[in-house]
Amino acid sequence: VVGYDENYRSKYHNGVGRVPVGIRSKRKRIVVTGGAGFVGSHLVDKLIARGDDVIVIDNFFTGRKENVVHLSGNPRFELIRHDVVEPILLEVDQIYHLACPASPVHYKSLTHNYKTNVMGTLNMLGLAKRIGARFLLTSTSEVYGDPLEHPQKETYWGHVNPIGVRSCYDEGKRTAETLTMDYHRGAGVEVRIARIFNTYGPRMCLDDGRVVSNFVSQAIRKHPMTVYGDGKQTRSFQYVSDLVDGLVALMESEHIGPFNLGNPGEFTMLELAEVVKETIDPSATIEFKENTADDPHKRKPDISKAKDLLNWEPKISLREGLPLMVNDFRNRILNEDEGKGN
Ligand code: NAD
Ligand code: UDP
Ligand code: UDP
Repeated sequence: VVGYDENYRSKYHNGVGRVPVGIRSKRKRIVVTGGAGFVGSHLVDKLIARGDDVIVIDNFFTGRKENVVHLSGNPRFELIRHDVVEPILLEVDQIYHLACPASPVHYKSLTHNYKTNVMGTLNMLGLAKRIGARFLLTSTSEVYGDPLEHPQKETYWGHVNPIGVRSCYDEGKRTAETLTMDYHRGAGVEVRIARIFNTYGPRMCLDDGRVVSNFVSQAIRKHPMTVYGDGKQTRSFQYVSDLVDGLVALMESEHIGPFNLGNPGEFTMLELAEVVKETIDPSATIEFKENTADDPHKRKPDISKAKDLLNWEPKISLREGLPLMVNDFRNRILNEDEGKGN
């Protein structure tokens, strides 16, 4: 059929939704699942700015319409309220699969997380297979568990408790990686896997319980910053624009991965509290709280693989990045307080 793109031939094909090749070749059509969330909304901004057509699928579980409201009315942007656990039929070139609650506070208290990782990823891979789209999974450094290797390389298989409070997330993402490789090997789907390390920036949920958002909100509200355990555990914090650049570089590359995407700058939680204090309020205080179960003691990415093969490395240090999220947090906290009549 003249003008019909073979890529979209499918077992479900019924002649609807044929795509003129001329239109498709000019710009990409991209699905971002979880696109109303923290990372997803920044990714969507970059793709729209590049000139792509973007469809966001999100059930607003931890995401917010406010994160993408500035795009409403843009003819290249579409928002679908949908749970990825249910199948969906679309025609696109690329799928960035981010949908999954990412904060321990959310995923530990919910039974939907594992299901989202398994059934959600399966559905998006089934979609990719049917339409010949390229699929990128946002996996996590949590696949390394409480690592016995430091820093972590992609070759490390991890140290994960399969029945612990974090396992729905850790094992969910490990299963999602397995499914991704199965669909690649078994069905020829073009796949990409990113293992994302702790990321922060504007639009994080104020109350999502992750350490950077907690400390920043607490310092702005003049509450003590809650340090769990002795505060000597480490994490490596990446600014969100660096991550988004890495995700796009990976999607556009010829490499499957997995790739660690993170900032190798490593901080103890006490050091992080100190940087937040310097950035927001020199009089900020800390209070110690009991740590949570199975908390990884240390985490730091080895990013040599991404540097070599994707020509990617983060540009923004923690001291440069933190001030960039403070205005956004201040404004939202102010609005919340006004909403309460305070
Ligand atoms: P987030 O919670 O802000 O975003 C997740 C989005 O997915 C939200 O908009 C949420 O509503 C949506 N969602 C959740 N379950 C869904 C479902 N069943 N169907 C449809 N939508 C659903 O989290 P984030 O920090 O933006 O994380 C995005 C992705 O990156 C996640 O897959 C996460 O595992 C991964 N990741 C993030 C970090 C980080 O530090 N931010 C670290 C490692 C991995
Ligand atoms: N799927 C989907 N959209 C599609 C194609 C498939 O949501 O366009 C879902 C489908 O419902 C199934 C999953 O993806 O649950 C895996 O699809 P696949 O074709 O690989 O498996 P099968 O349907 O053969 O079991
Ligand atoms: N943490 C903390 N205070 C908080 C929230 C978290 O000290 O208010 C600690 C937590 O125990 C962990 C680290 O900060 O050691 C990172 O936690 P987060 O939930 O941000 O991410 P993850 O554990 O997934 O790396």
